[in-house]
Amino acid sequence: MVGAIPFEKWELSHDGGRRYGIMTTNMSEVFNNVLKGAHSLPITALDQLTFFRLNSYFVVKREQGANRLASNEEYTPYVDVKIKANVVKAESHEIVLYDQIRGQFHVKTNKGTKSSSTRGRTYRINLQEYACTCGKTLIYGFPCSHILAACHFRTVDFRPLVQHYYSTQSYYNSWAPLFHPIFNVYE
Ligand SMILES: [Zn+2]
Repeated sequence: MVGAIPFEKWELSHDGGRRYGIMTTNMSEVFNNVLKGAHSLPITALDQLTFFRLNSYFVVKREQGANRLASNEEYTPYVDVKIKANVVKAESHEIVLYDQIRGQFHVKTNKGTKSSSTRGRTYRINLQEYACTCGKTLIYGFPCSHILAACHFRTVDFRPLVQHYYSTQSYYNSWAPLFHPIFNVYE
């Protein structure tokens, strides 16, 4: 039923540029890591181990999600840290407005840093399209420090740039499905 699945879900060339040039398979590596040490087991034991490990993983993550919902955290732990770090970085960017109607800027990074290899890099921002030439906002689904600097400059809310799957509700929903105990397996 490949025809029923949209192209962008399985073809890098149709994903709107989000993963352009990225050819890794990190998700399968992550899953392999969860099952570390289990590959040499007989199939039934492998099944059971996979089941119990996944259940433990879901229990921990579900609780983390519930706690974050209860404390009104807006985003997943990963993105929360990244956005806060980008907000701090944005404070040191130099920003120049070119067109207030279209929201065009250039943003220069690492002002005054002489040793860094990224010294003085300049990026173009189009705030109307939420676009930055660094490409990170499109690839990662949350705002780069350059766009955050422009948003701050124009008092524009950056939240529409954070993809819905990074919300705490999505995080909780991902881990919400329950596993049910297996009983009497050896009888
Ligand atoms: Zn950028």
